[in-house]
Amino acid sequence: MTWTQITGTISALPARRGEEPGTYLWIDAGDLGEQVVAELFLPAVPADSLDCALGVAIGTVRSYGDDRTGEVRLEFGRVRDGRGVVSARGSGVDSDIVFALSHHPPDGGYCPHCGSELALEVVKVITPPDGGVIGMPAGRCTRCGS
Ligand SMILES: [Zn+2]
Repeated sequence: MTWTQITGTISALPARRGEEPGTYLWIDAGDLGEQVVAELFLPAVPADSLDCALGVAIGTVRSYGDDRTGEVRLEFGRVRDGRGVVSARGSGVDSDIVFALSHHPPDGGYCPHCGSELALEVVKVITPPDGGVIGMPAGRCTRCGS
């Protein structure tokens, strides 16, 4: 696997696996041919404290058309003002990612009924024994209640 430097978006939400707090990350970076799309659970690091954070995340990485599950070592650099950089090394990825940071799920986090911003709950995370990660973001609309 060749090292790449790519640009994209990371969505980071507060998450919990059982009693273990952390951050759920959706990564979408790179152009066709070197695209990396990943869903990862990063234990112990709060979603609002990614600046210079270090950790080993677990999850699914799709790169070069391959889906892989396993561990990814994340080394964040400066993360502030909605932008940041992270080195991701591990299962299916060896990249420095320059990213725009979002605190919404990739599908937007807006109410499908009235379009208001959803009040997001902590993402419930399951890591099945056969690998990968399942994150269930849940939100509630404070305007129309759906
Ligand atoms: Zn609504």
